[in-house]
Amino acid sequence: MQLEIKQVSKQYKGDVWALREMNLHMKKGIVGLLGPNGAGKSTLMRILATISQPTTGTVTWNGIDIRKEPDELRQMLGYLPQDFGVYPHLNPIEFLEYAAALKGLGGRQTKKRIMELLELLNLHHALKRSIGSFSGGMRQRIGIAQALLNDPRLLVIDEPTVGLDPEERVRFRSLLTDLSGDRIIVFSTHILSDIEATADQIAILSEGRLLAHSDPASLLRSV
Ligand code: ADP
Ligand code: ADP
Repeated sequence: MQLEIKQVSKQYKGDVWALREMNLHMKKGIVGLLGPNGAGKSTLMRILATISQPTTGTVTWNGIDIRKEPDELRQMLGYLPQDFGVYPHLNPIEFLEYAAALKGLGGRQTKKRIMELLELLNLHHALKRSIGSFSGGMRQRIGIAQALLNDPRLLVIDEPTVGLDPEERVRFRSLLTDLSGDRIIVFSTHILSDIEATADQIAILSEGRLLAHSDPASLLRSV
């Protein structure tokens, strides 16, 4: 299981280069993308999620170019964008059934999966509540549940700790660790402590470039 980003650049209108010749090799485990606003984290994640295309360069998933054969990755992909919208009037089960239907999933297996995810994400005590009444942490967990419906091998989560209170932040970190198993989890943050505690690999981005890529211990030794 590997994701290889080769010489990826992304230009937006108005001569904005959000990524500049990025090279990054990701293996099984938790990969933390660290960088300030505007560093290119969301752009990179949208490319990994196959909803945006690099201007130049390639991304391969287990050797397959995701631009040429996006479905090879999409079947195994879970993505939680930063601006993830929920339907405030739905309860968690209704919302996840709807999200599953959009992904072409349904039936008894999916119902079972939804109940497992609600339990895993500690939302099983809120089954009758509408999502609109949820706290920030609960909304984020329903977003993660949505991304986990297809039991993805690649999970991409954009700025998951934004808007969480300190307690929710700590809980989120242990959730990430629980979810890491046979998959690659890529998440972005501008908070160093989110990454130190959880990531197996850290990639530091600044102005569209990769400044460093390493395991947390050696990276922290070098600063
Ligand atoms: P980050 O997630 O690290 O904050 P982004 O990938 O959102 O970084 O943004 C990188 C740069 O690209 C910024 O200068 C941002 O304004 C610009 N940018 C991002 N998305 C777009 C877009 N759709 N159109 C134009 N510029 C964009
Ligand atoms: P792409 O060219 O990769 O298809 P889009 O232009 O469709 O990307 O924009 C992707 C997302 O970025 C959209 O949700 C859009 O609203 C958002 N976006 C647009 N302009 C900017 C910007 N200047 N900075 C950050 N995000 C932006």
